[in-house]
Amino acid sequence: MTRLSNIKLRKSVIETCLAMNASGINQGTSGNVSVRGGKGFFVTASGVTYDTMTPDQVVEMDLDGGYFGDWRPSSEWRMHLDIYRDRPEAQAIVHTHSTHATALSCLRKDIPPFHYMIAVAGGTSLRCAEYATFGTKELSANMLRALEGRKACLLANHGTISFGPTLAKALWLAGEVEALCQQYFLACEAGEPAILDDAEMVRVLEKFSTYGKQDEEALAKEQAAGEAPVRRG
Ligand code: 13P
Ligand code: ZN
Repeated sequence: MTRLSNIKLRKSVIETCLAMNASGINQGTSGNVSVRGGKGFFVTASGVTYDTMTPDQVVEMDLDGGYFGDWRPSSEWRMHLDIYRDRPEAQAIVHTHSTHATALSCLRKDIPPFHYMIAVAGGTSLRCAEYATFGTKELSANMLRALEGRKACLLANHGTISFGPTLAKALWLAGEVEALCQQYFLACEAGEPAILDDAEMVRVLEKFSTYGKQDEEALAKEQAAGEAPVRRG
């Protein structure tokens, strides 16, 4: 038997799966997780429960769709592959069947900017990819279209997919997507939510370019906009 490579990376995928299910944004063997590395990326094996998953069940794949080892990769390996091929900034991917996002995905509609946090997905809406059967090329192509200019989207009658520069950030984004969908669901139940207009979303997206950043450049930009507090000491 060949020695297993990248054990730390494989373990970080399992830890992310455990955190994903513990946080309540996924359940059972639904969903899947991957991280870029090795010959391409490492993705969870298909249908294996996360609490029993071992590092050899995190499957190494190359960027031509080949896999290594005894375990078959996630049935959604192509969505992961296509994101890594198409989006160089993607280092990690989290696919969930989180409850509210999945419920809204069944409406097959984009989520409009009812809240400024919709900008976390990268634009002025959280798009919903057109329906296709799970694990198909068609689903992956629909997903890529919905992800244009975005780093998260809904998948019609299925769930969500989010990517980021690290596993922690991809998982965080998946949690934000679920929170937004729950909020939108509640707002729609309570009445007709007001939708932020394009001009406001341009402003929000501009503010998001510096939000949470602690570097001098971000501070200077916020100061120029007259929105940063003055540092006294
Ligand atoms: P896998 O167990 O094959 O990753 O499938 C889960 C899933 O969410 C399919 O869409
Ligand atoms: Zn799925």
